[in-house]
Amino acid sequence: MAYVIIGNSAAAVSAVEAIRSVDRDTPISLYCDEQAPIYSRCMLSYYLAGHVEKDDLRFRDDGWYERMAVEPHLGSAVTGLDADRKKLRLADGSEASYDKLLVATGAKARSLGRPGEELPGVFRLRNLPDAEGIVARLGEANRVAVLGGGLVGLKAAYALRERGMEVSVLVRSDHLMSQVADARAGDLIRERLEEKGIEVRTGVDAKAIAGDGGVKAVELSEGGAVECGMVVVGKGVDSNLDVVKESGIEAHWGIVTDEHMQTSAPEVYAAGDVAETRDLLTGERTVNAIWPNASEQGRVAGFNMAGRERTYPGSLAMNSVDFYGRSLMAVGKVRKLDQGAEEVVDYQPERGRYRKLVIRDGRLIGLLIVGSMQGVGTALALIKAGVPVAEIQEVLLAEDFDYAKILHLVKQYPEAFGRREFLLTVKSAVG
Ligand SMILES: Cc1cc2nc3c(=O)[nH]c(=O)nc-3n(C[C@H](O)[C@H](O)[C@H](O)COP(=O)(O)OP(=O)(O)OC[C@H]3O[C@@H](n4cnc5c(N)ncnc54)[C@H](O)[C@@H]3O)c2cc1C
Repeated sequence: MAYVIIGNSAAAVSAVEAIRSVDRDTPISLYCDEQAPIYSRCMLSYYLAGHVEKDDLRFRDDGWYERMAVEPHLGSAVTGLDADRKKLRLADGSEASYDKLLVATGAKARSLGRPGEELPGVFRLRNLPDAEGIVARLGEANRVAVLGGGLVGLKAAYALRERGMEVSVLVRSDHLMSQVADARAGDLIRERLEEKGIEVRTGVDAKAIAGDGGVKAVELSEGGAVECGMVVVGKGVDSNLDVVKESGIEAHWGIVTDEHMQTSAPEVYAAGDVAETRDLLTGERTVNAIWPNASEQGRVAGFNMAGRERTYPGSLAMNSVDFYGRSLMAVGKVRKLDQGAEEVVDYQPERGRYRKLVIRDGRLIGLLIVGSMQGVGTALALIKAGVPVAEIQEVLLAEDFDYAKILHLVKQYPEAFGRREFLLTVKSAVG
């Protein structure tokens, strides 16, 4: 009997720890195409900004593999999978066998698909080598164009501004963070970035990256160009499906998983940015590519692989950022609303404050907040537990989160909280 894990990040690590909490003896082999130690991608922009050292990115130390009795194969890419023979194909041409397999290959940065993308000085920000590449080139350019106004693009823009660079963010849509937020929220973030000297241009499309042996400019479809010595492409991510491509395992946006994180093939599980799951709020099948989902899915997969049944309730689309003290949190579906979805809004742009609830059939399917995040953790726990919205609508929209007004709900849904969180929430409510 042998477990095999493909990946070495959020989903893989929590799967290993779940397996080992149940089964100390069965061998676990872990394959990863990167050579790097176990590190946090979420922290890459802080490293890029110069706020933390490379070593601070680690979320497990080198001794972890030994303590977990894991045989690591770092720098060893898996190229394919034969689910009938229970074999993996490795990049060096060899094969490896598994009895139970977890595919936790995450996602890759989407390419721009425009000429000039391979020029030196064009980067993505998905992994440690990407961040190291940008840091190594910092002295060679003083102006950078960031293509894309999503979470990763804006984090890169912020980080490079912190390094003293002139930064232009070029965005095709008409507002920032258009995949997760609406125009009001995007514009509040834009306002703060512009105050800090980051140029934001919306409604513009990069036609090509011009240069000769290095980046010189981004040419725009609308005409004109933005001169720069570096480009960071932040156009979103796609699940890393290469491993399962010819395996017959069902995959759409990601690898389709059931409530045990099992795929369509026996004894093959998937978790994290590579896995398609049911969205907790909308019920739709999707890839909600964020760290907490990856960790939780990995944990559930690990337990099930080790024979302890656990059910995954569904993933939450949740994005949060803070730029220069202005925070945004987007949960669930807050844009492209279907008929029947209703918005309840408190919008005070002059105070940098915005709250929107999206409700369908009496249930909350989206929550968008710019400004104070007070009480959001408690609200989320209640939302996940399926509390009817009518009861908490007013509390969620209110200027100050009033714990006292939800105390009855906290008591009614104690399963929504861990014991410690439950006690803390009750304590906050009673003062
Ligand atoms: C710059 C940046 C900032 C982010 N900020 C946030 C944030 O603030 N909050 C948040 O929740 N999320 C954030 N994310 C997203 C978060 O990092 C991901 O959701 C999370 O890393 C997913 O974990 P994972 O284990 O599924 O996959 P990944 O972290 O993508 O890891 C996949 C692993 O599989 C390995 N692998 C891939 N293909 C193969 C192969 N063929 N063979 C062998 N190994 C392979 C990779 O080397 C890697 O070890 C951010 C991401 C980036 C890039």
